[in-house]
Amino acid sequence: MRTPLLLDIAADACPDRLALGGYGKALDFDAYRARASRVAEWLAAKGMANTAFLGMNGDALPVLLFASGMAGTPFVPLNYRLADADLNRLVARSAPAVLIADDAMLPRIVPVDGIELVGRSAFEAEFMTGAASERIDLPEAENDIAVLLFTSGTTGDPKAAVLRHANLTSYVMSTVEFLGAGEEEATLVSVPSYHIAGISAILTAAYGGRRVVYLPAFTAEDWVRIAAAERITHAMVVPTMLDRILDVMDETGEALPSLRALSYGGGKMPEPVIARALARLPHVDFVNAYGLTETSSTIALLGAEDHRIAFASDDPAIRRRIASVGQPLPSVELEIRRDDGSPCGIGEHGEIHVRGEQVSGEYLHKRAIADDGWFATNDAGWLDEGGYLFVEGRLDDVIVRGGENISPGEIEDLLRSFDDIADCAVLGIPCEKWGEKVVAVIVSRSGSPDTAEMAAMIRSRLRSTKTPEQWFFRRELPYNETGKLLRRVLKAELAEEVCAG
Ligand code: ATP
Repeated sequence: MRTPLLLDIAADACPDRLALGGYGKALDFDAYRARASRVAEWLAAKGMANTAFLGMNGDALPVLLFASGMAGTPFVPLNYRLADADLNRLVARSAPAVLIADDAMLPRIVPVDGIELVGRSAFEAEFMTGAASERIDLPEAENDIAVLLFTSGTTGDPKAAVLRHANLTSYVMSTVEFLGAGEEEATLVSVPSYHIAGISAILTAAYGGRRVVYLPAFTAEDWVRIAAAERITHAMVVPTMLDRILDVMDETGEALPSLRALSYGGGKMPEPVIARALARLPHVDFVNAYGLTETSSTIALLGAEDHRIAFASDDPAIRRRIASVGQPLPSVELEIRRDDGSPCGIGEHGEIHVRGEQVSGEYLHKRAIADDGWFATNDAGWLDEGGYLFVEGRLDDVIVRGGENISPGEIEDLLRSFDDIADCAVLGIPCEKWGEKVVAVIVSRSGSPDTAEMAAMIRSRLRSTKTPEQWFFRRELPYNETGKLLRRVLKAELAEEVCAG
């Protein structure tokens, strides 16, 4: 099945429903499909090479995503936050026939023969304004690559993940029921659309029959204002956004009564933040979604009911599930494996492996999936007795101290239980004696954190080898826009500080 069929199903079932944009100027599903088919005709005439997009979130993007699928030209959304040299390297790697870019970003692209550069305002004037044309019937496209998505390169160079139509549609079909939602349902998309979370938001909203409203770039103030004004019912955020949204809600007294479901993911949600959100927004269904670019988004989730049960429970084994990512989707198989490939027992830490139709595990010119379909996520994790998955973070972040593998996640969780800790990171930095030593970087609310007390607690609850040997202090920690802590950046900074003295 191909991605444009998701839009077709909604447009056939509810052509007059609002689909794209704010109240008063939103396109309905019929017009959405008609615009996409016109763009598809234009793209198809340029040959079958990729279609790239560089720009802020906005209505042109979903139209281009579906149009590329109709035309059979893989869609390549590019990360505008990259430095020019890195950006141009990705353009060269993806070799598009057409690159549509925000006008202000066009000069950043070094012109190359064979790539047609089109400014967004010209594109929008041609395809996004005026009455929507009739839908054009195009021949069924052959290319089964839907999207070429560069990962953000948190752990190394960005990888060019190949997502096929079957991967993406299988994900959407297994997570969303076709709702043909009423006009009152609207999704606010504030995650960047060059990330899998942005792509999956477009596909699931279309198939859900739900209106999409974009926030061009995230600020908590805009998010709360638009969520209230547009009577948003569904949204997806990354952990760093949620805390700031709650601050703004507290400052403004906004209650967001229309909000029904808020999903979050992309990185580990600190427990105090989700606990605050559950208390502040009792009318909202929270969903923790865990997934990777290579798996077409979510493979496991902690649903609303599980959030409520865990939050209200006095049983520590149930209560701690609030920090889990729940259970795998029914369409996905999941296993935790040891280094030698054998399966881990309950509670035993290992690498998370997945298998399922939505799992691509394929990069440009490179296959990274076993012949039997299992994909190694490079994430460390474990399963509890109820099959709930706990993600500890990237295997690359594991600290190896004197031969012992130490996962930063559990130490960070303990540190966050101190009221004084606003944020923290535990890292390994090179040391002669142990190879790596455990250090903590903390953001203190009081400015005078009691690190001796924190160290004593970690020593008693975990063990002395996991107790930070050195403490560093920051006003804030570096995150990327999809909520990932940039450990590499922090490590490089610390290495310099340690060398300097
Ligand atoms: P790269 O693979 O290049 O380092 P990336 O950060 O862009 O970059 P993504 O596919 O965006 O890669 O991120 C997937 C990773 O995000 C997962 O492997 C996991 O570590 C983390 N992650 C995603 N969702 C969650 C979640 N709900 N809870 C905890 N961690 C999560």
